[in-house]
Amino acid sequence: MRLADLTTLRVGGDARLLLEPTTPDELLDTVRATWSTGEDWLLLGGGSNVVISDDGFDGTVIRVRTRGIEPLTPETVAVRPSAYLGDRTIRLRVQAGEPWDAVVEHAVHSGWAGIEALSGIPGSSGAAPIQNIGAYGQELGSSLVAIEFLDYLTGQIERIPATQLGLGYRTSLLKQGRQGLVLSIELELSDGDSAGRALSAPVAYEQLASTLGVRIGDRVPLDDLRASVLGLRASKGMLLDPDDRDSFSAGSFFTNPIVSENFARGLPAAAPRWPTSPEDRDVAVPLGDAPAVPQAAGEYQVKLSAAWLIEKAGISRGFALPGSHAAVSSRHTLALVNTGGATADEILQLARFIQTRVFAEFGVRLQPEPVLVGVSL
Ligand SMILES: Cc1cc2nc3c(=O)[nH]c(=O)nc-3n(C[C@H](O)[C@H](O)[C@H](O)COP(=O)(O)OP(=O)(O)OC[C@H]3O[C@@H](n4cnc5c(N)ncnc54)[C@H](O)[C@@H]3O)c2cc1C
Repeated sequence: MRLADLTTLRVGGDARLLLEPTTPDELLDTVRATWSTGEDWLLLGGGSNVVISDDGFDGTVIRVRTRGIEPLTPETVAVRPSAYLGDRTIRLRVQAGEPWDAVVEHAVHSGWAGIEALSGIPGSSGAAPIQNIGAYGQELGSSLVAIEFLDYLTGQIERIPATQLGLGYRTSLLKQGRQGLVLSIELELSDGDSAGRALSAPVAYEQLASTLGVRIGDRVPLDDLRASVLGLRASKGMLLDPDDRDSFSAGSFFTNPIVSENFARGLPAAAPRWPTSPEDRDVAVPLGDAPAVPQAAGEYQVKLSAAWLIEKAGISRGFALPGSHAAVSSRHTLALVNTGGATADEILQLARFIQTRVFAEFGVRLQPEPVLVGVSL
């Protein structure tokens, strides 16, 4: 089976074996049986955050196809007041293979707030905690309570609270190497404010606020927020659409670098920079092979705009290396796209070129956001 057909970037050679379990029991049995063989294995959800080698995967690929969104009964959960939305909350258990956007759509239509700004992010719910998906001022981590996890090392199923997952900006302990299978995720959402209205969480992203015609911190009807996010995403090619080649990507290919404040001071004054949240401090992006900037204990770290760095390094939207079928998206500087028939090699050549240009110009080594399978940058 050609893995290119199962990834949104549309690259990747053959899998030796592809299995597609559809029920939780089947998934557990399949994964346990595969692990017991000692052969290589790869879990795949929607294939929207991976770059798989043109040589394919010489092992078993398990494509998680379980479905289901189930409210947890009040007896099984301790209801705690939600920080911003009052004390009416609902908890859901979502099976790993459930498409993430189906969960958001369900929540929005049910009047449950907390994940509406994550509308339109492709992929499965089980993969959502891997890089703590985020967009338009929201992150999964704010609504994630726990995951049900089959640990590769112990073979045990554990319920791991979100607080123990090391969630940060586009990362988690699972992305950093803790191996296993996310069987399901547990979310806590707000079930209306004190007046029972279906309003969004406070809008926390400037572009979204201006599209909605509101101010940061305002709350708007859930449907309006979802529609605005989907509209913004579509305008940038960040919504999967078979008719939109700019969406043949793995989303943002590079994360926004986190560097020391000291280092950031040496960048041009116009370089956008944002304060990082406390969780981000542990995941500072290495500055590359060149002498790293020493970070004094307690020094602040700041997040830079990878898109700004790329553009100012002279790489504009639509850029492609001569003869290559990989390009920078024509509507989103951070997305590398398959313009038709690209290989993983071509995507990676372009990524390396961008890394090299940005490093030469600013001394910052951009880090890839997708998971690289059988390839490296
Ligand atoms: C057009 C586009 C827009 C995007 N926009 C955003 C965005 O705004 N914000 C954002 O954060 N991301 C974005 N992404 C990236 C991507 O959608 C998310 O990272 C998503 O969560 C990946 O889910 P997936 O099921 O496709 O994962 P896959 O690509 O299938 O897998 C990703 C990783 O998760 C592992 N994995 C998958 N399922 C499981 C499981 N059940 N248990 C354990 N490990 C598992 C895989 O082994 C792999 O390491 C975008 C991608 C695209 C193509």
